[in-house]
Amino acid sequence: MPHEIKNYVAGQFVTSKSSFDDINPVDGSLAGTVHEADQATVDRAVGAAREALHGPWGSMSAAERGVLLNKVADGIEARFDDFVAAEIADTGKPLTQARTLDIPRGTANFRFFANLVSTSGTECFEMGTPDGAGALNYSVQKPLGVVGVISPWNLPFLLLTWKLAPALAAGNTVIAKPSEETPASAALLAEVMHEAGVPAGVFNLVNGFGPGSAGEFLTTHTGVDAITFTGESATGSAIMRAAADNVKALSFELGGKNAAIVFDDADLDQAIDGTVRSVFSNCGQVCLCSERVYVHDSIFDEFVSRLKVRAEALRMGHPEDEQTEIGPLVSKAHRDKVLSYYELAREEGANIVTGGGIPGFGDERDQGAWVEPTILTGLPESARCVREEIFGPVCHIAPFVTEEQAVAMANDSAYGLAAAIWTTNLSRAHRVARQIEAGIVWVNTWYLRDLRTPFGGVKLSGIGREGGVHSLNFYSEPTNICIKL
Ligand code: NAD
Repeated sequence: MPHEIKNYVAGQFVTSKSSFDDINPVDGSLAGTVHEADQATVDRAVGAAREALHGPWGSMSAAERGVLLNKVADGIEARFDDFVAAEIADTGKPLTQARTLDIPRGTANFRFFANLVSTSGTECFEMGTPDGAGALNYSVQKPLGVVGVISPWNLPFLLLTWKLAPALAAGNTVIAKPSEETPASAALLAEVMHEAGVPAGVFNLVNGFGPGSAGEFLTTHTGVDAITFTGESATGSAIMRAAADNVKALSFELGGKNAAIVFDDADLDQAIDGTVRSVFSNCGQVCLCSERVYVHDSIFDEFVSRLKVRAEALRMGHPEDEQTEIGPLVSKAHRDKVLSYYELAREEGANIVTGGGIPGFGDERDQGAWVEPTILTGLPESARCVREEIFGPVCHIAPFVTEEQAVAMANDSAYGLAAAIWTTNLSRAHRVARQIEAGIVWVNTWYLRDLRTPFGGVKLSGIGREGGVHSLNFYSEPTNICIKL
């Protein structure tokens, strides 16, 4: 039964005149109907958020806000299966992933930032003055104000809550706009917020698209103080232009074309296991996925043939099947984009080691958004398939000879989000990690990160850092107070 997904404004669930379809990418069926927020709805959301800043929310202590955010986490856990089902219907991702990563990590975001904000302090200095009486110079943290949270479709719940939880913990009020492709888990979250007693206007949800729709209405709105955005780099540029007029604070987590480097001293079993994960997890739709794999010349052939065997053994199937390792892409539009890169790879002269097309199931899944896991070799570093983010289950593997060459190849990118290094030489691990132009570098692992550590990208991959106090620093504004004693 398709869901009706409404907007949530000033503590009420509201409909709109226009709506759009939420499609299940497994078989193209209708998952839900989504009410698209118009300018007036976004205006009301901004007005409610501004009012709530000065209402009960504004007078709550950080600890009191923390109690409420923990209640939200309790509410998500109470409806855990609903969240998993909503996430699967929107994205087609395997049940096992939604159950062990997306929803638990999204829930943890609320508990983590509730705890962090209740225990973090500010700095205070005792100053000397010429009269000997001294002064106290300290700062107090205040919220930024009304924050627009714009999120993508690849990890809908995890990435929305990754921004929402610290923004609320720091005392801001929020208007969230999830991706038009994946609105369902955010709609459930609005119900949980409502039931938990989050005051009206503190959390608002508006659905829609980017240009000419809710996304643009938010980024151009003079009542919005900050935009925190995860998505494509080109969208980041558009938002930056839109937000320029009233100089909004911006935090951007953008695209990547991440490198993995496999040295000849790597534990090859570990490197292959890790590369299977880093290329094909979530059907390659994680911003941190490796799309460029550089392998030492002496182990290149063995690595490629072993990765091919593993890619071909990945179990494609229904998300609800516990054995499924890889589902469809998020939409047919995205499938067409990924397929256009498979075609481009052929035109650019790639050797298609495996994949390169659409799997045939002979059932309803043939109406879905599926592509084959794909490995490419033989392209020059200048090829578009090596330079542009594809965001599908695909990598290009190229050989290198020297460490310097590997570092240079990894850094030869407009992006700088993440990298993975596979080596058993500790000195090399640190030496190379230090030189890589990326916000996060993994050694002998991938996608492992303590929530307290900084997360973000360099170059086209983003602005700023989130995680632990780095998030709170973005979502708060310090006021420096100096008292002469
Ligand atoms: P996208 O940029 O197309 O859309 C993201 C969000 O922005 C959606 O909610 C969309 O409606 C909205 N939007 C689009 N145009 C807009 C505009 N002009 N003004 C305001 N809002 C607008 O990205 P996507 O396709 O949903 O997500 C995939 C991209 O996200 C990839 O590039 C991926 O690398 C990136 N990503 C980055 C990270 C990270 O942490 N760095 C994490 C996940 C995804």
